[in-house]
Amino acid sequence: MEQILLHNLRVIDPFGEREFIDHASILIEDDLIKFVGRGFSHVGFEGQLLDMEGKTVLPGMINAHTHLYGSLALGMPAPKHAPANFVEHLEQVWWKLDRGLDKESTRASFEAGLLDCLQNGTTTVIDHHASPNYVNGSLELLAEIAESFGINISICFETSDRNGSASFMDELTENLRAMRKFESNPYVAPLLGLHASFTLSDDSLKVISELMDEFPDCGIHIHVAEDMADEKDAHARGYASVIQRLDHFKLLTRRSLIIHGVFMTREDRHTLLKAGCRLIHNPSSNANNQVGILSAEIIESMHAGLGTDGMQNNLLIEAKEGTLIRSAVEGPAVNYLELLFKNNPDIALRTFGRLIGHIEEEAQADLVFYDYDPRTEIHAENFGSHLLFGLGKPTDVMTRGVFRLRHSTLFNFENDGIRKNSRKQSTQLWKKIQSL
Ligand SMILES: [Zn+2]
Repeated sequence: MEQILLHNLRVIDPFGEREFIDHASILIEDDLIKFVGRGFSHVGFEGQLLDMEGKTVLPGMINAHTHLYGSLALGMPAPKHAPANFVEHLEQVWWKLDRGLDKESTRASFEAGLLDCLQNGTTTVIDHHASPNYVNGSLELLAEIAESFGINISICFETSDRNGSASFMDELTENLRAMRKFESNPYVAPLLGLHASFTLSDDSLKVISELMDEFPDCGIHIHVAEDMADEKDAHARGYASVIQRLDHFKLLTRRSLIIHGVFMTREDRHTLLKAGCRLIHNPSSNANNQVGILSAEIIESMHAGLGTDGMQNNLLIEAKEGTLIRSAVEGPAVNYLELLFKNNPDIALRTFGRLIGHIEEEAQADLVFYDYDPRTEIHAENFGSHLLFGLGKPTDVMTRGVFRLRHSTLFNFENDGIRKNSRKQSTQLWKKIQSL
């Protein structure tokens, strides 16, 4: 048993048991928090005592939906012909990028993306992976790299018909292999990944549904109704909606994650609530793809989580952008800090089976520290504005009771080496995509 007591902290856990504590201490035993409160003279412990010099500490943040495979897309040349709609955008940009990935560029994407997560205080990532020309072993590689960074990871492969039936079976098999291999790993949560309803035939959904019988506790992770094209496809196949189609194939289970849902109906929402699925909202991606704005009523009634859909790895910036995007149009406001600090930990609890994303007793010791010297008073009533508009980047990040970043320096990693390699891989990848 190892103990460490951190003192001289400002603790902010926006939707935790105690939201705001000044002059606080945190006792950590192995990978769990054992005490949070003021002072430490009354706390019995044996181990290291560390003065955190007045830093502000938040819970390690959770990204409820992203695509680490897209990490090398930053600055990628635009397609030759401007896409006319959402599906063309997928065909000309993202489906070329994922087909261009081989083992080395996939590794570089994972490493560069996860490094960025750590440096932005994101310590848990729910990933939706696609690399159709490097399927076998890709999820294990992701789990391995996440483990080396100390990041909790949910893994799945985007099963789809879009690359032919042999690829469909490989992708499905890769999911099943991960589901078996990582079933009891506390830091790796496998789900069954499906790209989207409109790239899966009824025959494919039937195969998936039958295989899912073997994993009654597992859930699917799927894009739903991100654009009207997905709904129109479901109608053309004879279903009332995408959600009704997934329900028909018994794919909506308690651990399932439904991504986007911009065009869902009231009936869809009731179906999801009945099944206990969780909805993930990705405001910056929806704005970037110009698909529309998810209604505040759906976000609230579904207790939606917050994801970035590959747009970025800083969840506080995603929360700020979500707030501002919604401010630009008429309609009720949404408290994005609630999505990030309340709904995402609830989703992580269900996905990983562990208390993650809070600073309280028995939660996993994932903590993000900031040197924050605010230009105005900060207190229990106004810390939300400081989180969205003041905080900046963390200096220290701890996961599972171990510092991964200390004084802005990574432990065990060569930051420059990872970035140098990802730059090299990105140049080769972009060149390759031009010929696809
Ligand atoms: Zn996505």
